[in-house]
Amino acid sequence: MNTFPPYRIGTGYDIHPLKAGRRCVLGGVEIPSSSGPDGHSDADVLCHAIADAILGAGGLCDIGFYFPNTDLACKDMNSLDILRRARDETAALGYAIQNVDATIIAECPKIAPYITAIKESLAATLALPVNCIGVKATTNEKLGSIGAGLGIAVHAVCLLARTRDDAPPPQPRQDLP
Ligand SMILES: [Zn+2]
Repeated sequence: MNTFPPYRIGTGYDIHPLKAGRRCVLGGVEIPSSSGPDGHSDADVLCHAIADAILGAGGLCDIGFYFPNTDLACKDMNSLDILRRARDETAALGYAIQNVDATIIAECPKIAPYITAIKESLAATLALPVNCIGVKATTNEKLGSIGAGLGIAVHAVCLLARTRDDAPPPQPRQDLP
């Protein structure tokens, strides 16, 4: 069995409730809004979903393993640091991110005017060209809790390519009984 496949793909998903008075930070970009995602960190739901896609592609643990929401050090942390950690963890395995793509599902705020800035922020953080970052925003057509404007959800995918053969293959997580 080839434990060093040349390419690996991963998916990520995250959702946070919207809370009045919270900052709305998506991909490291603050979007003017009367409410923002609630959470232990800065609740950057876009960074979280992309980080999980990167880690998942590497066969690694999810972001809750690296950044527990019970850890006071993670309180209000900048989620761009979570993205950098995900990139570094996969680099240590001998893989480089080729591209990421994400879909933000939110009824509000309006995200379209900020897509370019969000892509530039993610590209700079992941050390990728901007054209290797996909970010789309859609609504839930007023269906369900997302459609009622109660939260923001994000789906993401990531492709990794092997860059060298001297690194260990991904290891299963060690924190389970
Ligand atoms: Zn999250």
